[in-house]
Amino acid sequence: MSIHSITEVDVAGKCLLIRADLNAPMKDGVVTDATRITRFAKGLKPLLAKGARAVVLSHFGRPKGKYVAEMSLAPIAPVLGEALGTTVTFVNDCVGQEAQSAAAQLADGQVMLCENLRFHPEEEANDADFAAQLARLGQIYVNDAFSCAHRAHASTAAIAALMPAYSGPLMDEEIDALTRALEKPAHPAVALIGGAKVSSKIAVLKNLVQKVDSIIIGGGMANTFLFADGLAIGKSLCEADQVETVREIQALAKAADCELILPIDVVYAFKFADNARSFICDADQCPDDGIILDAGPKSVVRFRSVLAGAHTILWNGPLGAFEMRPFEQATKQVALEAAEMTRADLAVSVAGGGDTVAALNMAGVAEDFTYVSSAGGAFLEWLEGKTLPGLAALDRDQAA
Ligand code: AMP
Repeated sequence: MSIHSITEVDVAGKCLLIRADLNAPMKDGVVTDATRITRFAKGLKPLLAKGARAVVLSHFGRPKGKYVAEMSLAPIAPVLGEALGTTVTFVNDCVGQEAQSAAAQLADGQVMLCENLRFHPEEEANDADFAAQLARLGQIYVNDAFSCAHRAHASTAAIAALMPAYSGPLMDEEIDALTRALEKPAHPAVALIGGAKVSSKIAVLKNLVQKVDSIIIGGGMANTFLFADGLAIGKSLCEADQVETVREIQALAKAADCELILPIDVVYAFKFADNARSFICDADQCPDDGIILDAGPKSVVRFRSVLAGAHTILWNGPLGAFEMRPFEQATKQVALEAAEMTRADLAVSVAGGGDTVAALNMAGVAEDFTYVSSAGGAFLEWLEGKTLPGLAALDRDQAA
């Protein structure tokens, strides 16, 4: 992959057309968590200081190709301005005369934010004419939205063929972290894969067995593995129709010399509820009406010792029903171990996916990881080994 970063370009006096992801949580027109905006601003600031002019494009929510007042990006402009320490002009459309003249009037160091790309159906259709209209707003295209890179939309794919195309600073961070963790991992490399279902992570598991030395499997999906091995799992969440898939993954892992590590004991309850009375048993002893909701303490010791020998840790999906007490324990303990390994500079740790980020925040260790990706879909597709259209569009090897 040969992607060039905008940070290596002389941007003084240049108008950058930057695709960002400013889809921040909002309630009643007020941004409730500005993390995405402040992270983007941090990368943009040095470019502005070098004299760049910035036209910022983003989507917000899923308006399905028409104007929806609640999905306007207007409330984001002052928040972005505050994070940048400058005024951000808001323009009511992302294409057309008004946007073009506003872009033409930008002085060095100035920023404008355009209205939601997805108010136009052509955006999600990856329409070439729409991309050409967007391209009129700047001289250099910059994609700084890794979280949207798994979508072939006009602002992430078609546009890159129309003007010089570069990655942005946030995109660089994400590519760097994922490359270190997955493409060129320091061995032993360990993946932690949890979450509810095997069916949603088949492609991830099939790809990871080729790349890492061990995979710790937890969460609801571990139940399906235990079930496939003939263990009693009571009334636990299980996808009986995925037994063949599990066998296939086990065979691939064996062929690739990748160890699959399952819970050896479990925490179960008789109802799926916060503060439900919980019990611990060996993984083959779950009673008929028990519901497995977490890995048990012996498993945690095992998981921690595997992590303690790792140089790369890759994580997606909680190891138990971590939103409910006391079923957060395995996720928490393992998160603490991974954080400790990272702090001691013994391992590179990269985690991603909405629930995983929430779980790391619950454990209070998100800051200790080498990199925590907030990109859900794009992160998973990278783990699956897929080519992301937004990256392919920037890749000069592929364009050549
Ligand atoms: P996913 O979206 O596939 O990453 O799944 C995350 C969800 O899996 C979380 O909401 C967890 O509560 C849930 N989960 C984890 N372990 C279990 C389990 N043993 N039984 C049921 N749900 C679980």
